[in-house]
Amino acid sequence: MKLSLVVPCYNEESNVRLFHDAAANVFDNEGYDYEMVFVNDGSKDSTLAKLKELHNESDKNIRIVSFSRNFGKEAAMYAGIQHAKGEYICLIDADLQQRPEVVAYMVKRLEENPELDCVAAFQEQRIEDKTLSFFKASFYRLINSVSSTTFVQGASDFRTFRRNVAQAVLSLGESHRFSKGLLSWVGFNTEYIPYEVQERASGESKWSFVKLFKYAVEGIMAFSTAPLSIPLFLGAGLSAVSVLYLIVRAICCALSLYDSFDRGTLLVFLALLIGGVQLICIGIVGQYLAKTYEQGKNRPIYLAREIIEPKEKQE
Ligand code: UDP
Ligand code: MG
Repeated sequence: MKLSLVVPCYNEESNVRLFHDAAANVFDNEGYDYEMVFVNDGSKDSTLAKLKELHNESDKNIRIVSFSRNFGKEAAMYAGIQHAKGEYICLIDADLQQRPEVVAYMVKRLEENPELDCVAAFQEQRIEDKTLSFFKASFYRLINSVSSTTFVQGASDFRTFRRNVAQAVLSLGESHRFSKGLLSWVGFNTEYIPYEVQERASGESKWSFVKLFKYAVEGIMAFSTAPLSIPLFLGAGLSAVSVLYLIVRAICCALSLYDSFDRGTLLVFLALLIGGVQLICIGIVGQYLAKTYEQGKNRPIYLAREIIEPKEKQE
């Protein structure tokens, strides 16, 4: 098997056939030996039924991993990579925002250059809301400044890699996964190619601003312990300010200059401020503790309810 297309699907009933046809059109024409590994991530619509239809109609190259519930795109990609049999593995969305033609180019690059392990696509121009673009750019600036792992601006999960990279990614068993970071962390020779993201074939993006924000926090926490240093700096700064305050008050008293501050108000303000800062600090530590706790439970990254092998593999 040469190529495995790993396709995470969550409520993509109107897209899976479009995707299948578009991909088959490219890879059948080029005479590729390929498979499609669809991961049904607990869809609530008829995605699974549509996938089974495709499986029944196709002669061999469809594999389906169907989750017992929605585990998220990260878990779906992990499961897809785990079940992929190809020499090259491609992560691609089901909504046709990423064209299968680009995958053919990625494979060509890997074939031309044996030293290359991964070809990743990045968006040169984003067709999205300006505010969202601003937040995404700020996120990349922030995460690159606090993490030793490099995050390429505009890079997506859309990429094709060899089995060595797949094995490396699978060997990282962390439950809070952030693929963009994991794929960068594992290293290997990666070539970044620009691509133009298309409009969604149908349906809506599953990523709301809140979901994206949470995902960004996951990313920062998975790849940096910098937030854990915040309490230290805040505490040091606050202590310095309080000492300075004490000195200024002492000087004012010595010079018999009385300020017009009501001391009671000032004390309440300071107590609240210090209490607030302490709570923030404890909160940050708590976040990491929660992640460690989750990881400590060592739960599986996903649970499949059903796995459907391509036809030729069935008895
Ligand atoms: N997806 C998934 N599980 C989820 C959310 C999304 O498997 O919980 C899949 C979705 O079906 C699609 C891909 O991940 O194939 C990208 O999702 P989407 O198009 O909503 O994201 P966007 O392109 O807006 O970043
Ligand atoms: Mg999409």
